[in-house]
Amino acid sequence: MTDFARTKALFHMPEGVIYLDGNSLGPLPKAAPARMTQAMQDEWGEMLITGWNRGGRDGAGWMAQPVSMADRIGRLIGAEPGHVVLGDTLSIKVYQALAAALKMVPERRVILSDNGNFPSDLYMAEGLIGFLDKGYELRVVAPEEVEEALTEEVAVMMITEVDYRTGRMHDMPHLISKAHQVGALTVWDLAHSAGAVPVDLSGSNADFAVGCTYKYLNGGPGSPAFIYVAPRHAETAAPALSGWLGHEAPFAFDPSYRPGAGIERMRVGTPPVLALAALECALDIWDMTTMAEIRAASIALTDRFIAGIEAACPMLTLASPRDAGQRGSQVSFRFADGYAAMQALIARGVIGDFRAPDIMRFGFTPLYIDEGDVDAAVAIIAEVMAQKLWDRPEYRRRSRVT
Ligand SMILES: *Cc1c(COP(=O)(O)O)cnc(C)c1O
Repeated sequence: MTDFARTKALFHMPEGVIYLDGNSLGPLPKAAPARMTQAMQDEWGEMLITGWNRGGRDGAGWMAQPVSMADRIGRLIGAEPGHVVLGDTLSIKVYQALAAALKMVPERRVILSDNGNFPSDLYMAEGLIGFLDKGYELRVVAPEEVEEALTEEVAVMMITEVDYRTGRMHDMPHLISKAHQVGALTVWDLAHSAGAVPVDLSGSNADFAVGCTYKYLNGGPGSPAFIYVAPRHAETAAPALSGWLGHEAPFAFDPSYRPGAGIERMRVGTPPVLALAALECALDIWDMTTMAEIRAASIALTDRFIAGIEAACPMLTLASPRDAGQRGSQVSFRFADGYAAMQALIARGVIGDFRAPDIMRFGFTPLYIDEGDVDAAVAIIAEVMAQKLWDRPEYRRRSRVT
């Protein structure tokens, strides 16, 4: 049984804040500053370049970390050990996975996605299509139309499992089996799934998956992304971004590229060692729980939040699925003045975020949010909405990041 009071105590939370935005950027594990200082002073400072072979908390070398740490994430997403690697940003990993998948279905030209996907994923697909210049088409349909759009024209279905705006969740095992029936491969973006909902990549026969570590996984701003390649594709997938650290023998400095064994080939360049030191502290906390317990707690929190808000705030319209089984770990409400309302909430310590045009989004993360937080947040939201406390010019001014 996970002791959620214990995990909560392992995160730093500023005084007076109820943090409902861990779906965008997780909070700081209290152990991270000391670990980062140690990584800087004892490893970077003292070991200098020898750290690549003997750095890291376990002394196994910085170079081993992108795979060894990725396996701890692999447990949370149902990946086989040794088939996930950390590095780069999610946008880059989307590009890499999509390019690798397309190359494995060379006779087809359609990439299928849905309009609930995060724009960067669609942009990366557009960029890849333009660059390849071989008549590829990005076919974007409504989320509920993905299944019927799976035809024998589709090379790759590229889907984000949990919608970043509404929290609507696709039936991943079902769509994978449908895609495979028509001979298509699948790329799954787990940005709002990893650490939020149970994922079983292996059991659902996924081909490729990618995700980030700074959202629910709490790795810190700019922490590296991850990529999964199914074992059956590991030795045939072409990495597309053929950097030296994905080479079979990086230190042979061979002038021509040969892909490394399995997931190693999905590495590109030098790993972000300091960022990995912070991520490691978050993964220590993840080691204390299971996704089944996280899911049960998350459903209890989101159901409680929806019931509380609907009872107190008739002006807010639920944008997330009411059925918890179809919802990730976030709850969104529509409100025409949602931007100003969210600024008023943030000013009172309830931190969520806003997604255009009218979505107020709240993330629920059982590792550090409990029922008391939900009730306190509901009370503040109820007051702000009932008294229109958001209706002030300073709350309407848009910042660069919303
Ligand atoms: C957060 C998110 C991204 C962000 O990509 P970065 O390269 O890490 O900035 C991409 N795709 C999805 C689905 C996301 O939710």
